[in-house]
Amino acid sequence: MKDYILRATFANDSGRIFVADTRETVNQAFEYHKTSPVMTAALGRTLTGAAIMGSMLKSDDDLLTVTIKGDGPGAGLTVTANNKVQVKGYTYNPVVDIPLKQNGKLDVAGALGFGTMTIIKDLGLKEPYVGQIPLVSGEIAEDLTYYFAKSEQVPSAVSLGVLVDRDYTVKQSGGFIIQLLPSADEEVISKLEEKMKTIKSVTQMLEEGMDCEQILNETVGDMEPKILDRIPVEYYCNCDRERVEKALISVGRKELEDILATDKQATLHCHFCNKDYHFSEEDIKNILERQ
Ligand SMILES: [Zn+2]
Repeated sequence: MKDYILRATFANDSGRIFVADTRETVNQAFEYHKTSPVMTAALGRTLTGAAIMGSMLKSDDDLLTVTIKGDGPGAGLTVTANNKVQVKGYTYNPVVDIPLKQNGKLDVAGALGFGTMTIIKDLGLKEPYVGQIPLVSGEIAEDLTYYFAKSEQVPSAVSLGVLVDRDYTVKQSGGFIIQLLPSADEEVISKLEEKMKTIKSVTQMLEEGMDCEQILNETVGDMEPKILDRIPVEYYCNCDRERVEKALISVGRKELEDILATDKQATLHCHFCNKDYHFSEEDIKNILERQ
């Protein structure tokens, strides 16, 4: 089964829910970055949250960037998503080995430490929208919940989970975001609050073999959910030689001449897919001639 996000409304359209299965996407991130389990969880939860937020973007050129910076050994991460729900990301330190939490879970908060979460939405306007919050838990889902309440004034419930297998590949990954509109009445709000106290974790539900439809039923099944659509999710890096060459040109003529005088070659690295682009002496001379 390929990754997708299920979008639905419930309680007479006074609430909306997004349920995501992102196992292949997060496993692709692991394949690129060879992250240790706790960083796979940190990156995977953020990729899942960003995928859902990407699906909320209106137009094709809109881009969402989530940046986490912390003082823990993992240092942080960057993830981007667009409205076609193509996501990509990387961690600042992919290999972090810290003890599990007392409950046996990966200590994502311990790996990230204290810091900030910044969400940038480039919506094609003059200035991008920027929202920043302090990390309230460092476990990502709670931080996104806080972000939605603080920066977007939307009451939300966020659950994100990644289960790493013994061979470090991704066994399960997914999540959901539930948001209430101002039209939601008290009964819906308290019903949802009760549900969130007792609901199983996303990874547990996925482990039991549930798909997004069944998770939808577990969460808001008794509030007349209406499925809107299903959107495929994929890990996609849009880097190519032309793009990288532009970045090389942007360092300036003098810098390029310096490279020719010293290293005689340049290698540019894409953080998102770990690909290297080599530019030989000849390549750099050609670039300079064309300028
Ligand atoms: Zn790339």
